[in-house]
Amino acid sequence: MLRLYNSLSKKKEPFASLMSKNVSLYVCGITPYDTTHLGHAFTYISFDILVRVLRHNGFKVNYTQNVTDINDRDNDILKKAREQNTSWVELSDFWTGKFLQDMSSLNWLKPNNYIKASEYIGPMIILINKLLQNGLAYQKNGSVYFDISKKKDFGKLSKLTRNEMLKISKDFDENIENPDKVDPLDFTLWRAEETNQPSHIPSFESPFGRGRPGWHIECSAMAISTLGEQIDIHGGGIDLIYPHHEAEIAQSEGATLKTPFSRFWMHNAPVSYKDEKMSKSLGNLIMVSDLLKNYSPNAIRWYLLLHHYRQPFEFFDKDLKKSENDCLKIQKYINHQSSNTEIDENIFNKFINALEDDLNTPIALQIITETVKNKGSVSTLKKSLSLLGFLV
Ligand SMILES: [Zn+2]
Repeated sequence: MLRLYNSLSKKKEPFASLMSKNVSLYVCGITPYDTTHLGHAFTYISFDILVRVLRHNGFKVNYTQNVTDINDRDNDILKKAREQNTSWVELSDFWTGKFLQDMSSLNWLKPNNYIKASEYIGPMIILINKLLQNGLAYQKNGSVYFDISKKKDFGKLSKLTRNEMLKISKDFDENIENPDKVDPLDFTLWRAEETNQPSHIPSFESPFGRGRPGWHIECSAMAISTLGEQIDIHGGGIDLIYPHHEAEIAQSEGATLKTPFSRFWMHNAPVSYKDEKMSKSLGNLIMVSDLLKNYSPNAIRWYLLLHHYRQPFEFFDKDLKKSENDCLKIQKYINHQSSNTEIDENIFNKFINALEDDLNTPIALQIITETVKNKGSVSTLKKSLSLLGFLV
């Protein structure tokens, strides 16, 4: 029985889908202007394992992942496009291509709905209109804001205090001093085009006036459009819990009047490097394309899966070197043995049980290592390694 840790209840729960053997999964994707670092790879490989384990359990997975090619913020893509004298469209296409190439090198299963925010403006407008009709949003000077005072359970995912929310909102570039907001924690659904707005900033027609969508409404609209009003699993990096996922819950439930928006919320731990979280703003990034010059895709995958997805870890080159050696040892063992062995059900069941216990990949890899050490069944090894997405 598959059990997953649900960030909403803060405990492991048995997993069953809403619709018999079909699972709907949404994972927040990249903002394409500087990808793919090891933190991205850890998140998306972890959800790759989730998809593989769900499939092993007989589920058909309908998986959506977005590309945040536009949003209401002033930094990131627009800033970078301006610096490089290019357009946000060209920049985002270039970095999305790089991301897909890097992840495909790691034998990543591409989500069946891999979609761009800029192509879902229509559904975003519909959702904002519903929020206005349901009395959960208000318009001011051409912008639209979500009124958090009207959603009584706002904060149920992050369980943060008001002061903590204020601090994090500020870090996420939400203008909490904007005088148009009734409450500083109200967040932007639609940002009005400014007078004399530079032409490199995207702008779209809407019933509220020209402007661009808020970051959070994008994911609500894309999840609902591709997966339905209620979904099974929503995932992303742990830093997205507040404000992004909290806002997504408030908007989706506020527009559809259906609760819960997602039954399971799964969050990935960050990767750090040189004592700090790997992030664009700190510039301490280890890029996957650089690692691929010196290490095999299997070694990188092995290294990532040595860490449970909820366990933060720090990158050290020597650990990745060790993973490369371990993968070589396994491959050597497989190459020199007859693969006509029978599956060792006892070992394979232990391996599956580890994965079904909230995707415990460190234990699953330990079982593989011990099987090699004990000169165990090659067929079992191959079956286990393939299930984890290794190329054998
Ligand atoms: Zn998102």
